[in-house]
Amino acid sequence: MSEIKNPLEIYAALAKTNCGQCGVPACMAFAAAVLQGQKQLVACPYLDPAVCGQLSQRIVRRRSLEDDHQQAIQTLQREVAGLDFSLVAPRLGARLVEGNLAINCLGKDFLITPSGQMVSDCHLNHWIYVPLLHYCLLCKGKKPQGEWVPYATLPGAAEWSQYFSHRCEEPLRQLADAHRDLVFELLHLFGAKPVTLSGGADHSLVILPLPKVPFLINYWEPEEGFASKLNILLDRSAAENINAQAINLLARGIIEMFRQLILRHSRDGKLF
Ligand code: SF4
Repeated sequence: MSEIKNPLEIYAALAKTNCGQCGVPACMAFAAAVLQGQKQLVACPYLDPAVCGQLSQRIVRRRSLEDDHQQAIQTLQREVAGLDFSLVAPRLGARLVEGNLAINCLGKDFLITPSGQMVSDCHLNHWIYVPLLHYCLLCKGKKPQGEWVPYATLPGAAEWSQYFSHRCEEPLRQLADAHRDLVFELLHLFGAKPVTLSGGADHSLVILPLPKVPFLINYWEPEEGFASKLNILLDRSAAENINAQAINLLARGIIEMFRQLILRHSRDGKLF
């Protein structure tokens, strides 16, 4: 039985209606996701079970991005499991709750168990999981100084700064342009505090994704002939409490959470 190497071989067996019930908007995208190990064939309800079985045997599972994230989380969990929680809690600005670390992230508690597992009412994904575990391991307990600096100036941020601006700041600017009231409502719901700074932004808000890692979000509304602007600044102390890569993931996780909430709560259920 030959191995399937081309998504077209999977696509040929699909209904080709692009109905989206598999969680992917089009049959071709679904075929590609199956081949990359991101989706299972059974997610398409229109695929004949016998055909599904035959195709599945010909798909060789390769390591996916999800596998890499899982491996990173397991490595971090093992390191966190070696920590003395009663010693690290004050440094992290966390509380001890029945032997677990309770870390407040945007006003919600995330519990880290002694084995490094995470428990929360909120949806957990690697964008939140990985930075929180890094925070447990790296935080030196440095208090924020109120000196705001661009992400790119933090140690180790050079290789991530383009990503931070394209995948975090720019999408948040677009969301704020399209759903200004909803975005600010969400920010306030997550504990954002307005601040007045000399930079002259129309809106400057401080949020606390981690107890000792504040983000300052500055947003300039569009004006006639000028596009809007948005930047996310970090306290200079951030590098003492977490690394640049984890800050990037954290910001990305927040934007992703906003996208999901806006999809659910915007009047037309659309992002743009
Ligand atoms: S559920 Fe099946 S038919 Fe519908 S888009 Fe997905 S793959 Fe195509």
